[in-house]
Amino acid sequence: MRRVYCDLHLHSCLSPCGDDAMTPAMAAGMLKIAGVDVAALTDHNSVKNCPAFFEACVNYGIAPLAGMELTTAEDIHLVCLLRSLEDALNFGEKIETKRVRIKNRPDIFGNQLIMDAEDNVIGVEEDLLPNATTLSIEEAFALAESCGAICYPAHVDRISNGIIAVLGDFPSEPAFKFAEFSRAENIKPYMEKYPLLKNMVPLFGSDAHSLEAIPDASFYLEVDDCGNVADAVFRCLNGGR
Ligand SMILES: [Zn+2]
Ligand SMILES: [Zn+2]
Repeated sequence: MRRVYCDLHLHSCLSPCGDDAMTPAMAAGMLKIAGVDVAALTDHNSVKNCPAFFEACVNYGIAPLAGMELTTAEDIHLVCLLRSLEDALNFGEKIETKRVRIKNRPDIFGNQLIMDAEDNVIGVEEDLLPNATTLSIEEAFALAESCGAICYPAHVDRISNGIIAVLGDFPSEPAFKFAEFSRAENIKPYMEKYPLLKNMVPLFGSDAHSLEAIPDASFYLEVDDCGNVADAVFRCLNGGR
């Protein structure tokens, strides 16, 4: 087994709330400095910066995972991690058809920049990304599973877009296996208050939206020694498969 430092929740300049300087290349460089081994890019409802992130991570010697932070119809945030860039792009295509189209107002919400791995802007996402999709939480989980994604609620200990704050309790369905916490000290009190959470494996991601917000690596997983380390992290989260 090997200890692998992970950051499984990151936003780039594609997310309107993400800093323009948080380009895939700059993020990869900062993650390297932070000591992260495996990093997942999880922009709101889009994977369009994942190709650049993959290329940049390889340049900096980081193992990338592709992902998305999906907003359900209830306004709950779910982290979705995909096994490969190809799987992520396929998942992204499916989510495109579930988005509710509202024009972005960059002056209010921020830019939504699509980048290449050399820090060039290669496109702009015109419609606002983070708003709720048409997918209920059950539909979102089922679609993610059908695309091979590992899907779990993001920042369950936060009020805004956290599953408990939105629903009033942790639900028994869908059959989540993980719950992402913002703060380690919240795990115990939350598990005491919401017993169904005790069945979940707690995970952490920085949810960094800017380079300065990328913390020094501290969250790790013990994964098998076989092959690429990002694949090993995915297998670890996917029940060994
Ligand atoms: Zn979120
Ligand atoms: Zn996020």
